[in-house]
Amino acid sequence: MLLTDQPEVTFHWLRVGHCKGPEAMARQGGRLRLIEFPSYVGALHHPRHGWTLFDTGYSQHFFDATRRLPEWLYRSTLPVTLPEAEHLPRQLAALDIDPADVRRIVVSHFHGDHVGGLLDHPRARIVAGASGAEHALSLRGLTATRHAILPALLPDDLRERLDPVESFARADVAGLTAWDLLGDRSLLAVDLPGHMPGHLGLLFTSGGRQVLLVGDAAWTTRSYKDLKPPSRLAKNVMHDWPTTLSTLAALHALDAAHPDLLILPAHCPEGHAAWYAGA
Ligand SMILES: [Zn+2]
Repeated sequence: MLLTDQPEVTFHWLRVGHCKGPEAMARQGGRLRLIEFPSYVGALHHPRHGWTLFDTGYSQHFFDATRRLPEWLYRSTLPVTLPEAEHLPRQLAALDIDPADVRRIVVSHFHGDHVGGLLDHPRARIVAGASGAEHALSLRGLTATRHAILPALLPDDLRERLDPVESFARADVAGLTAWDLLGDRSLLAVDLPGHMPGHLGLLFTSGGRQVLLVGDAAWTTRSYKDLKPPSRLAKNVMHDWPTTLSTLAALHALDAAHPDLLILPAHCPEGHAAWYAGA
């Protein structure tokens, strides 16, 4: 049973680089071995409202922005790889999408692995939680790096192009606070607080399946299925730890109550495989 009826959109879940980190960082009870955390980007097409991206993954800009200290610390803590074939502009071109066709980018949050490609879309509107954008814009230097914010990745005109999610009509669903981005309920931005200020997910229906992109509200599928929060080592990068835990519990409950709903964390290969297995 669907959470709510929605007009269909087309959806691609694109892998755009990865970092390596210990499994135990993402999930309590995980092992210490290093595993890959790919960054996935959603590309969604609406017949009347065109293309929307959900996050942008890594990019050449990410490497340029982390060449020097203190930003280099970010890249050296979680080493990043971006194969040529995974660059987002290349993958969009393969789907016949010109960068200028991207009308809006929904930013789950402003960590460097999610906003690496904002600079490649200078005309797109940027949909984000107002508090998330202000928080990112307020940080500089080492303080920014410690929060995994890379100011060089933020467009100079971010404030002008920002459509705060709170400015859209409320369309709450299944106990979650949500906003109707296109006016027909096809793209519902969902409040998933805790990881960073203004952290957002996106709910839509594609190919008869309802999908909830959850950004970093859960790092892996196992995190929400088994209710395993990130390690306390990762607590430092979480904006609000108790709220991170309650959001994860809400996703766990939502998954249990709606077996047909596909919940996709931003960094989970298992989720990526689950989407393409049924697509
Ligand atoms: Zn992330």
